[in-house]
Amino acid sequence: MSDKRKQIFDALQKFFGFSQFKGNQEDIISNVLDKKDTFVILPTGGGKSLCYQLPALMMEGTAIIISPLIALMKNQVDSIRGYSQEDNVAHFLNSSLNKAQIKQVKDDIQDGKTKMLYIAPETLIKEENLEFFKNTSISFVAIDEAHCISEWGHDFRPEYRRIRDMIDIIGEDIPLVALTATATPKVRTDIIKILDMDQVSEFVLSFNRENLYYSVKPKGKKDQALKNITQFVKSMGGKSGIIYVQGRKTTEDIAEALNVNGIKSAPYHAGLDPKTRSATQDAFLMEDIDVICATIAFGMGIDKPDVRFVIHYDMPKSIENYYQETGRAGRDGLEGVCVAYYSPADLSRLEKFLRDKPVAEREMGSLLMQEVTAYAETSTCRRQFLLHYFGEEFDAKECNAMCDNCKHPKEKVNIQSAMVLALKCVEELNNNYDIRMMVDFIIGKASQTILDYGFNNRPLFGVGKNETNVYWNTVYRHAILLNLLTKDIEKYGVLKINDNGRAYIKRPHPIEIPLNTDYSQEEGDDDGAQGGTAVLDDQLLKQLMNLRRDIAKKKNVPPYIVFQDASLMEMATQYPITMDDVAKISGVSLGKAQKFAQPFIDHIAKYVEDNDIDRPTDFVMKTVANKSKVKVQIIQCIDRKMPLEDIAATNQLKVSELMQELDMIVLSGTKINIDYYINEVVDEYVREEIYDYFKEAETDDAVTAFHELKENDITIEEIELIRLKFLSDLAN
Ligand SMILES: [Zn+2]
Repeated sequence: MSDKRKQIFDALQKFFGFSQFKGNQEDIISNVLDKKDTFVILPTGGGKSLCYQLPALMMEGTAIIISPLIALMKNQVDSIRGYSQEDNVAHFLNSSLNKAQIKQVKDDIQDGKTKMLYIAPETLIKEENLEFFKNTSISFVAIDEAHCISEWGHDFRPEYRRIRDMIDIIGEDIPLVALTATATPKVRTDIIKILDMDQVSEFVLSFNRENLYYSVKPKGKKDQALKNITQFVKSMGGKSGIIYVQGRKTTEDIAEALNVNGIKSAPYHAGLDPKTRSATQDAFLMEDIDVICATIAFGMGIDKPDVRFVIHYDMPKSIENYYQETGRAGRDGLEGVCVAYYSPADLSRLEKFLRDKPVAEREMGSLLMQEVTAYAETSTCRRQFLLHYFGEEFDAKECNAMCDNCKHPKEKVNIQSAMVLALKCVEELNNNYDIRMMVDFIIGKASQTILDYGFNNRPLFGVGKNETNVYWNTVYRHAILLNLLTKDIEKYGVLKINDNGRAYIKRPHPIEIPLNTDYSQEEGDDDGAQGGTAVLDDQLLKQLMNLRRDIAKKKNVPPYIVFQDASLMEMATQYPITMDDVAKISGVSLGKAQKFAQPFIDHIAKYVEDNDIDRPTDFVMKTVANKSKVKVQIIQCIDRKMPLEDIAATNQLKVSELMQELDMIVLSGTKINIDYYINEVVDEYVREEIYDYFKEAETDDAVTAFHELKENDITIEEIELIRLKFLSDLAN
């Protein structure tokens, strides 16, 4: 072992108590010790900070570490102090310090006691600080989170642009170390150019996280997505996980839904006060909470090695964000499941937020999101897609079925002739447009831009109209992956044909690919409709309806009195085969179950047996009863025989709203007795007439009843009251 190597290993042992380096840490450290400019890209968990901490401890003078995250500085400093006997070996300088503290920091530096100083760019920039550093011995300047320097990074900070000028003021020939955990090829060149790094040595560790399983699922309606997530988290059996969402309100909704279903979870977002936030973080670290539902504000300072899953309830704004956030799973190298729920509607919503931003930012933002869409919709290996994004070649065969597309490969089609056409179209439009435009052109969509330029008169316009938008998107995406087209990031994603592409047109060969998933039929959430009937068994539903009709006849009641349609549909989805199962179906109380359910249970049990059906793993999602408080109060008022007008007033409802609440109470299977009120306000003959009508009626619809009965001077209000009584008496 050379002297230098021995020194490095001795220092590692002395300062940190380790005997071995991770990955290429040793080469990086050696390069820094040689006072050369060093550029380090180490994915999260790769041991990035050691690459500057160790040389800082070994070299003369103080190392300045520029970091954008004030919140993290204290953690970092604490962690170094944890290894050292002297607290003043590391300090931070930022706006949180008072005058006396700042003086202490500067004294320690001047006395040569401090080897590392963490500083925010906006603090470094101050006149008095620059002046101070001019007269200080600086070992090197490390720029952490260096991607913040590039507008093409996911976290651009304008003040990072001035770092080079500031360093020049401090002194000449100060070595630079730039570090980041994510950087696309474009961001890399930006960092080197803007920092003006001299003969820089680049150290890049593969971005491949072999232990992470990537998958994307259609999101569907809100109820369904929530149910899927709950079911998934349940299946993880109390393991730690993070769920990322865009909105603060959603973090609270999801955490609440999980808690109701017996999963210890908490929301985390920037709107919470600092005390609550740090208590939540601690509870997560201590495993008092298993699942955190967070906006992106979570995770920056968290280093929990055994996070077992990361769910994206909403797609992130960029692939960098996605990679960073999923990167928090499985840091210990063990299981890490990453599931993203994708709905095209979510991304168009995100794009709308960009509308008020300056043009350049808007176009960049939209381009980053197009990549996210492409990731979600791709049918090729997701690992290959991610690594290609970060400029890494990867053979999908090495994924080891660790993504949904490799695990469940789709049927492949040959796109040889389509590829030739796609490439020719790019040439036809002079290599000047992005994917969206090329797809519009090839399917013959006369968009405004196409009409403006008269491209609709070109011979190849609409040449691919027999295939879908998704088909051509897939073809173009593959052209990029196969390096037949180059995407010019500087010019907003313009596609250009390259030598490979031109050669392919001359001598094409078969290309077999799986087509991308078409999510355009996926409906967004929030349309108020009831979801959750995705796997409705039509055959069983028909049988259950027949059974209901027979039973209704026998009991001499209308069928809807036995079970509502919605309840039958749920039965034909959940296959309840015990009294307990049935009582979990919405609209079925235990009392109602005992009254009517036995023949249904028997029928379903036999059906399941005969058809060899895998019942959903007896999972029933409990919903958050957000309005339940009002309902309970209403029922209590009825028990006290209060007039309905007074009940409405007490609960700040209109009478019509109260009637709706009562309707829901009765339909969910609760028995109520409002005879005391009905007897007061509805004439006895009228009561009987309406009651008799419902016994014979085909439907419980009040308006239909009104049309039948209005001749007899019966009002709709009277009908609604008697209908409630009727449903409650007979059905519950
Ligand atoms: Zn794969």
